[in-house]
Amino acid sequence: MPAKSAAADAAVLPLCSIARASQVLADPWALLVLRDCFRGATRFEDFLSLSAVSRTVLADRLKDLVAEGLLTKGAYQQHPPRFDYRLTPAGADALPMLLAFMHWGDTHRDHANGPPVQVRHHGCGRIMPAGAYCSHCRLPVDASSISFEPGPGAKGAEAQRIAKVLAGIRAREGRANASASEQGLRSGTVSYSTVSTPQD
Ligand SMILES: [Zn+2]
Repeated sequence: MPAKSAAADAAVLPLCSIARASQVLADPWALLVLRDCFRGATRFEDFLSLSAVSRTVLADRLKDLVAEGLLTKGAYQQHPPRFDYRLTPAGADALPMLLAFMHWGDTHRDHANGPPVQVRHHGCGRIMPAGAYCSHCRLPVDASSISFEPGPGAKGAEAQRIAKVLAGIRAREGRANASASEQGLRSGTVSYSTVSTPQD
């Protein structure tokens, strides 16, 4: 990833937003870090638990995503110092791109039992094909109006492990958000919802 070479790249890249965006976003581990932000991950150990990323690569991608303005880094504990990572508006704007990746993967990559993850639109309450609009009610979706939940292809021990990790994060963040809103903290980051209690 590119944070260090952005100035040099700007000199040689054409004036193309796809090229500029790809400098930040076209990295598999950066995409998976952002994916896990939308699933509710905020802490280093959350990201480690949700993908096969190594500690070194994760530290590198988190640093780059902060430098590029997609995540903010804040202390959630002083002694010893511990940090969490939250989406900025620029990070939250990566959602339609991630949903486009997901739609392509659902369509063109084989999943024996169906997609492993599905998207529920809170606006109408239905499972929607991954995309920038809910195909049922035609409303545009953003980070706060959808949640990711297990799809028909999510089965077995690994799916159960991920579900447990995500439930732990939701419980912790629910408590943290309640106390932050009491104290008026956490302005400037984008709230998202991973709350999901699948009904169907
Ligand atoms: Zn809808």
